[in-house]
Amino acid sequence: MIPVTKPFMPEKSDFEAYLDGIWKREWLTNNGPLVNELELKLKDFLGLKHMLYVTNGTIALQLAIKALDLDGEIITTPFSYVATTSSIVWENCTPIFADIDPNSLNINPVEIEKCITDKTTAILATHVYGNPCEIEKIDAIAKKYNLKVIYDAAHCFGTTYNGKSVFEYGDISTTSFHATKLFHTIEGGAVFTTDPELLKKLSYMRNFGHNGPESFVGLGINGKNSEFHAAMGLVNIKWIDSILENRKTQSEYYSKKLINSRIHFPKISKQSGFNYAYYPIVLESEEMCMKIFKSLTKHEIFPRRYFYPSLSTALSYVESKHLEISDDISKRVLCLPLYYDLSFVEIDMITRLILRELNN
Ligand SMILES: *Cc1c(COP(=O)(O)O)cnc(C)c1O
Repeated sequence: MIPVTKPFMPEKSDFEAYLDGIWKREWLTNNGPLVNELELKLKDFLGLKHMLYVTNGTIALQLAIKALDLDGEIITTPFSYVATTSSIVWENCTPIFADIDPNSLNINPVEIEKCITDKTTAILATHVYGNPCEIEKIDAIAKKYNLKVIYDAAHCFGTTYNGKSVFEYGDISTTSFHATKLFHTIEGGAVFTTDPELLKKLSYMRNFGHNGPESFVGLGINGKNSEFHAAMGLVNIKWIDSILENRKTQSEYYSKKLINSRIHFPKISKQSGFNYAYYPIVLESEEMCMKIFKSLTKHEIFPRRYFYPSLSTALSYVESKHLEISDDISKRVLCLPLYYDLSFVEIDMITRLILRELNN
């Protein structure tokens, strides 16, 4: 069986080595030493001054919306995971879907501008599959209309943009360290900002708003993460170069096999150092997409229709909206299996089945 993804599993003994310290300290959560150590290691790897490790990528998004005091309408992408939209609704704002660019599959800045009303307060954009958005254009729109920008960078661990971590862009960026992501802490996430005031606010918010055992500076939530999750992160970060390198080699091998076929690949930003987080292919029709999907599943290979359906038509709690590009692409996109120990022989098998469907 070949799944679309598998969590990276480090050596069990490396994880166990951290447990002795946890038992000795009897300090399980609440900004413990392993959480601090993980934040330091991640900042060092990513070249960042600041980050806050939080419970998960969804809480990271909700903290970002809350910390920026957003209300009214937030313009967002329909081509993302549901958490991008549900966080907006959870924070009592209204998501307004802007269509995507057919080449990058990221939110299209031209479409963002068409959605702006006097109720718009922010743009929440996803760097889809780890491929950065057109950040300069989004920034220019935000400046022109006085809007905040949040980037859902859940796919972006290791991605750079103009030579620095993509997490540094926007008023706030968020990411996820969920087990299925390229770098994970089982469950986990982070918020990033370069604004020191906002960072301070977020750090209080992460811990119920406490600024002392008996005092509070504002509204907060439980956004903390535990020593056990941090330990998994500390073990996994040792492997990150090899994880990124493998993803690149496997993706290039896929591309070598699939070139000259009738497959469309998302166009990766020239300004980015890409992390190869996913291997998406866009087929010529939904019919072809399903033919390939069925042929692979018959052989115990499980690609994922990711993202399908387009969020603009999928949610009972948001008014459905027809968006030409997102509706169309989501019907004919597949993410192919990609994980640490996926072998070339397995990629050969997957690509052979795909080419066979395309050629008959
Ligand atoms: C995974 C993911 C999230 C949610 O992160 P969790 O850590 O699972 O809460 C949000 N947005 C996108 C684009 C994701 O892929």
